[in-house]
Parts: sequence; structure tokens; C-alpha cells
Amino acid sequence: MVAAALGVTAVAAATSVWTAQAGQTGGGSAGPGASARPAAPKAAPVSAVIAHASDRGEHAVNITIDDGPDPVWTPRVLQVLRDNGVKATFCMVGTQAEAHPDLVRQVVAAGHRLCDHTVSHDTTMDTKPPAYQSQQIVDAERQITKASGGVRPMYYRAPGGAFTPYSRKLAASHGMRPLGWNVDSKDFERPGTDAVVATVKGELANGPTILFHDAGGDRSQTVAALHTLLPWLTEQGYAFGFPVR
Ligand SMILES: [Zn+2]
Repeated sequence: MVAAALGVTAVAAATSVWTAQAGQTGGGSAGPGASARPAAPKAAPVSAVIAHASDRGEHAVNITIDDGPDPVWTPRVLQVLRDNGVKATFCMVGTQAEAHPDLVRQVVAAGHRLCDHTVSHDTTMDTKPPAYQSQQIVDAERQITKASGGVRPMYYRAPGGAFTPYSRKLAASHGMRPLGWNVDSKDFERPGTDAVVATVKGELANGPTILFHDAGGDRSQTVAALHTLLPWLTEQGYAFGFPVR
């Protein structure tokens, strides 16, 4: 826990210079009073309950894109989102963000939101000690915020859904709402574009938050599925929102 506490302190010190940028771009979470305390850039706490709803109400979907950024696939996903006027939430792996800061900035500049998907995507982190969970979450928060130029991740999604009560509370205390999903497009398994499309259409009644991936292998089926699904969702009258905070 000492190491974790030191990590938080280091993040606070390192991020203080980004506070102004984060506020200007609108992606930061510096709330009222933050300007009076320039040495405390920490985001305002949010609910620790896993979010499933959309900020656009009942007839809306939240497009979420996990595991990137990736130099090949993230630009293609950004393009199909842009072509359809859709804003999404990108759950980024810390090491990927650190390696591709240009892509993180492109995501932010296009109006999408950032989500902390840990440093190294350990899907067994729910079995690990709190100090490890803290390092995975807080270090990724720092990596993503630095890569973005000061825009903080607004959500935390555990790899493979491996949340713990501790990790949810920790993320929430850093202003990152725990984020689940209702519809797994199964795009990661590459079952074919038609199957990805059919899965999303078939499970849409489960809830608004849909899981896709822009990294971890060839994501051409994901891009093709989005190319079909986004106009279809619009035709069905769905709004595209962000997960509630
Ligand atoms: Zn993931």
C-alpha cells in the first residue's frame, strides 16, 4: 500500500502541469474549486457502481472500443465513426497509449472519450493484491493522461470484466466511472463480419453499451461490422451516447 500511495503522489505531481489543458479541451474532470487549488489536479470522485446506462437515454447505444490504440486499426475505426457522425468511448491499455500518443490525441480531438483499461490488460487482476490492482489502474491513468496531452480517462473498464470492489472504488475516487458492457459483439474472436453484425442486432435488447475492439489482432471484421451497424442503428432511431458518469 505504501508503493500505491507513492504512486498516487507521483501522478498528482506529474499531472499538475496538464490541468489547464484538460479543462480547455473539456475532457478533464477538474470540477469547481479546482482552479483555487492548482496543486490538486485530481478528478472529482464519481459513483463506484458499474455503469451500463447511456447519457442519451433509453433509445441510445454507447459504442465502446477496447484494447488500443493500435497504429493500423484505430485510424480505421476513427474513420468509420467519423463517416457516421458517431462518438465513442475508447478503453485504452496504458502501454499502448504510451507507445502511440498521436493516436490518443486523435481520439480526443475527434470528440471521443477515454477509458482506463489498465497498464497490461491482466484479466486475472481480480485475484491479485490491492497494491497490484492500484498500480495497474493508476499507472494507466497517468500513461493515458500524459499521452492525450492532459485529458483524463473518464471511465475504468477492468480487463475481461475482472472488477473488484476495491478496484471500482479506487477508480471512482480518481473520477473514473467503472464501465461494463451489455452486448459483447464477439468481434475479438473474428467469427466473420456477418456474425458480429448479427450478434449485436440480436443482443441489443440487453442494454446500451456495446463492446468492440481496435487492437489485439486483425480488426478488419470490426471495421466492416461498424460500417454496417452504425447506419443501421441510426435507421432504427438510436442515438449514440456516452456511458453515464
Ligand atoms: Zn480488453
